[in-house]
Amino acid sequence: MAEHRKLTQAELVAEARDRFGDDPLDWAFQCPRCGDVATGRDFRDALAEHPRKNRDGSDTIASDVLGQECIGRTLGALKGPNTGDGKGQAKRGCDWCAYGFIPGPWEIVLPDGRTMNGFPLADAAPAEAKPLRPAVRALVKALKLRSTYGRPCWVKCTQAWAALIVPSLRNGADGPYELLRTFRRSTLDEAIVAGLVVECGDLVPAPPIGGRHWAAQPEVRGRIIALAQKNGDSK
Ligand SMILES: [Zn+2]
Repeated sequence: MAEHRKLTQAELVAEARDRFGDDPLDWAFQCPRCGDVATGRDFRDALAEHPRKNRDGSDTIASDVLGQECIGRTLGALKGPNTGDGKGQAKRGCDWCAYGFIPGPWEIVLPDGRTMNGFPLADAAPAEAKPLRPAVRALVKALKLRSTYGRPCWVKCTQAWAALIVPSLRNGADGPYELLRTFRRSTLDEAIVAGLVVECGDLVPAPPIGGRHWAAQPEVRGRIIALAQKNGDSK
């Protein structure tokens, strides 16, 4: 079970922002009993599906229960049968809450000096686990395959498009270059921002390729592009 920890509300907010970003819907807390990790967005969806009222009669919203209750309490864990694991009818989570018989384990000091109990923030930032778009994966995969020749891959860009120019698999190490595929420029930008690929050096004349494609025109200049984690690939 998670350890007791005492922190101010301001510290909690700062830490949540640091881990998950500014949007509280992305903040995630972990139930100390069943281990379920739920975000504000999970609670918003669960409450839309299973609306509840607060004690004062107002509708319960995500911020009323995020970090206070396991999401199972909203999803039917309090509705029997008693299964011994506190799950009841909930499809995830359990009936645990931070204000119950065993409180916390975090203790939050509010600005007015009162304290309230809460669940611990979850460890992993879900944003980092976001899967890459298929096009970004395809770009990385193409670079992986074509950089095995020991010659650099090139990219030529327009405002909207990025043409990947790679060593042809014909004629070994001295073979020609060819246009492998045209990606959206945003796909290239996304791969760069994600730290997967890097563009190297200045815009210079790229190795010639055949065909009538815009990327085949020698006036359109290009740059070397490489996988970010690999160095010294280009000889
Ligand atoms: Zn739980």
